[in-house]
Amino acid sequence: MFGRFALLLLFLLVPAAAAWVGLGVGAALPAAVLGALTWLAWDWARFARLMAWLRAPDLGSPPRLGTPWGELADRFQRLLRGRDTKLAESESRLDAFLSALQASPNGVTLLDARGHIEWCNRTAAAHFGLDLRRDHFQMIGSLVRDPNFAAYFASHDYGHEVIVSGREGSTFAPQRLSVQLHPYGEGRLLLLSRDVTAVSQAEAMRRDFVANVSHEIRTPLTVLSGFIETLQSIELDAPERERYLALMAAQAERMQTLVNDLLTLSRLEGSPMPGFSEWVDLAGLMRQCEDEARGLAATLAPRGEGGHELQFDEAPPLQLAGTAAELRSAFSNLVANALRYTPPSGRVEVGWRSAADGRLEFFVADTGPGIAPEHIPRLTERFYRVDQSRSRESGGTGLGLAIVKHVIQRHGGELRIASTLGKGSRFSLLFPSNRVRDLPEPA
Ligand code: ADP
Repeated sequence: MFGRFALLLLFLLVPAAAAWVGLGVGAALPAAVLGALTWLAWDWARFARLMAWLRAPDLGSPPRLGTPWGELADRFQRLLRGRDTKLAESESRLDAFLSALQASPNGVTLLDARGHIEWCNRTAAAHFGLDLRRDHFQMIGSLVRDPNFAAYFASHDYGHEVIVSGREGSTFAPQRLSVQLHPYGEGRLLLLSRDVTAVSQAEAMRRDFVANVSHEIRTPLTVLSGFIETLQSIELDAPERERYLALMAAQAERMQTLVNDLLTLSRLEGSPMPGFSEWVDLAGLMRQCEDEARGLAATLAPRGEGGHELQFDEAPPLQLAGTAAELRSAFSNLVANALRYTPPSGRVEVGWRSAADGRLEFFVADTGPGIAPEHIPRLTERFYRVDQSRSRESGGTGLGLAIVKHVIQRHGGELRIASTLGKGSRFSLLFPSNRVRDLPEPA
């Protein structure tokens, strides 16, 4: 400040003194005024340069102006730099925060107090079919049109979740979203959405499963209790009693088979995947399978007739890594199905092949009734049957192929079904090559 004052004095005194000396005392005052005006103009020019620098969109280094404008410019520059640094820090924090929300597996939508969309992550955009550029600041209620959501949004009672349909999924398998609004800040709302389609499907499957099991058990139980009542109330002669008891035993056996299949399924689901420590000889598996098949074929053949034409190929000298009991159960389920569904005049062939992709194939081919294409994708569902009465008549539980599929998946393989109505079916189990090895040399 002193420098500025000194400079002003200089601009006043030097011209005044020079005018006094050169032109006399009368010229001193105008010269001093002229000096003051010159100082003012010069000072104004410096101020104007400062303002021009401040107004520039891109603040470069400040102009060199001397005190006090130069000082002011430096101070401004420091303040602005500090502000820029803080702004950059907040922006990067906001970016990190938004990236974290983007990475969330759940949908996150930020709404203002009236429900206008301010921001949403990709998951929420997919859930509700939003496009942030198009829908920014649109009302959420006009874009999420599910009536459950509309009622929930209008209720202002956001203490619970609500299930709405999402944009993904199909008519047969609609996407189910669990959504909840969380108030935050000054009346703003955070809308969280979670895809619960799989959970809902699992829940529906569990309900169906319990209903199916109850139905399957109730039928033989009803028959059994009917027979018991008859035995209790009516005097029967010995042969008739025998016949009733045989029918009761058949129903009890049916329930036992069902319970055994259910236990097998639950064991398959609950136990760890078979590793590579147990190697099973194909020849042994094939022998057991053939023995069982011949026994079953004999029971299915009409009295005095030969029954199915059965062909078992010789097993290759190989071993499979897996659980013997599981593999045996899968193979015998396929062979038993082929025998049960093929009339006794038909033919069943069981064998092994090397598939084109290097996998080892176990196949069971029959000349039975075949299966219509629309049923094939559903055959491995629990309790799914093409012909209910035929399956039950032949002692089927509707769980056989579900067990087969589980077993082959646990062994890293695949179940393939090819069938032509009226001609027959071919069920194949394809095992990955890493689960197959040559028979070890005898020690
Ligand atoms: P089930 O105990 O009823 O045989 P599965 O799960 O083993 O149950 O089979 C499901 C359905 O697939 C059967 O009910 C039957 O309709 C059909 N199926 C299975 N194997 C054959 C086959 N070899 N030929 C014709 N239909 C078959």
